[in-house]
Amino acid sequence: MEAQSPKGSRLDPWIDEYAVRAQSLTASEIRALFAVASRPEVVSLAGGMPFVSALPLQSIADSVAKMIRDQGSYALQYGSGQGDLTLRGQILDVMSDTGVSAHPDDVVVTTGSQMALDLVTKVFCDPGDVVLVEAPSYVGALSVFRSYQCDVEHVAMDDDGMIPEALAETIAAVRASGRRPKMIYTVPTYHNPAGVTQTQSRRDQVLEIAQREGLLILEDDPYCLLGFDGAVPTAIRARDSDQVVYLGSFSKTIASGLRVGWAVAPHGIREKLVLAAEAAVLCPSNFTQSVVSEYLGNEPWREQVDVFRGLYRDRRDALLESLQQLMPPGTHWTVPAGGFYSWVTLPEGLDATAMLPRAISELVAYVPGTGFFDNGDGAQNLRLSYCYPEPERIREGVRRLASVIETEIEIGQTFGTTNTLHHPHGSGIPTPDIA
Ligand code: PMP
Repeated sequence: MEAQSPKGSRLDPWIDEYAVRAQSLTASEIRALFAVASRPEVVSLAGGMPFVSALPLQSIADSVAKMIRDQGSYALQYGSGQGDLTLRGQILDVMSDTGVSAHPDDVVVTTGSQMALDLVTKVFCDPGDVVLVEAPSYVGALSVFRSYQCDVEHVAMDDDGMIPEALAETIAAVRASGRRPKMIYTVPTYHNPAGVTQTQSRRDQVLEIAQREGLLILEDDPYCLLGFDGAVPTAIRARDSDQVVYLGSFSKTIASGLRVGWAVAPHGIREKLVLAAEAAVLCPSNFTQSVVSEYLGNEPWREQVDVFRGLYRDRRDALLESLQQLMPPGTHWTVPAGGFYSWVTLPEGLDATAMLPRAISELVAYVPGTGFFDNGDGAQNLRLSYCYPEPERIREGVRRLASVIETEIEIGQTFGTTNTLHHPHGSGIPTPDIA
């Protein structure tokens, strides 16, 4: 647009007209770097993209063609705001190993679990309400909470997940400051980005705190079937169906491009979610729901999950072995028992955001830790994902990263400081492929 509005800038004449809630919708400062990082010569340990090439593509193509021939007039039509009833029944089976038991009426199908995060926040949170999240937390959830003007408070976690004592203290501090804690958002199993899994006893304690404090738990569980020893931890929702909204997704176990996820919610909340979903999108796609439903009905989907699990385990092993061999002293990382990520702590004095341009020029990419915090923390951390590159590429990526870190350490020793670039925290909305 050529014209400049009286108040707006030349770049965006509408800048003064946006709703207050849109102020948080800023692009991540690392977004531009990731455009470069998607070049094939860069080993990307940044993206959380599932390895969908391992799917039986021909067989899916055949069954989609048949589905359209046989039920095209249903699959290509508007559908129910709550989602397809047959699929909702199948979802109960998919969740069964988590211990979550529900009725198809309790399930709301959404456009990926990302949409369920949005709907739950829309239904529960007024501006200024406090959402308690792990430190670090899933970047896509932080974007949602910011977009509804929530205050985010991080709760300390360690290798056993969110620490209940820290949760209780944070809630007390929030109340003492006159603010209103609203919900606890947690990814207890194969955490993104921390790569850790919460113990069962801590899950119980977090639930007890939520019950005592009258706080909703938003349990986000997209990785639960991707445990490398086949274990599926019992969900918090399995212990209390009134206190917890549980989110699941087919993005990691079937295909992220289908954009099919779900929420399991107590009756009253479920009604609100359906109404909010109808206001947003009328209904989830009948087409992709039918694809998922056919796939679950006709493909050996559990065996395919085993294939994914084996593949990601090999990649996790390649990552951990090469980190062990190559990383300079003072570098630490988590050991994931499932999922896609390991969380790395750099040696004292290094800043992962400032180091990223050098890493990308050395042809390796990762996600800097500050993106997973709402408060500027995480400068010394980064997230590595091993889900997409082949094991040999992962090893090469770690080799490159180790040499970048060594160079940063040397620069620090020579000049007394390592990184001179300053990067503000918060880092805005990431690209979907790094989420
Ligand atoms: N929650 C977590 C913890 C995730 O890692 C992701 C995807 N990166 C999502 C939710 C969103 O997944 P989807 O919308 O594809 O189901």
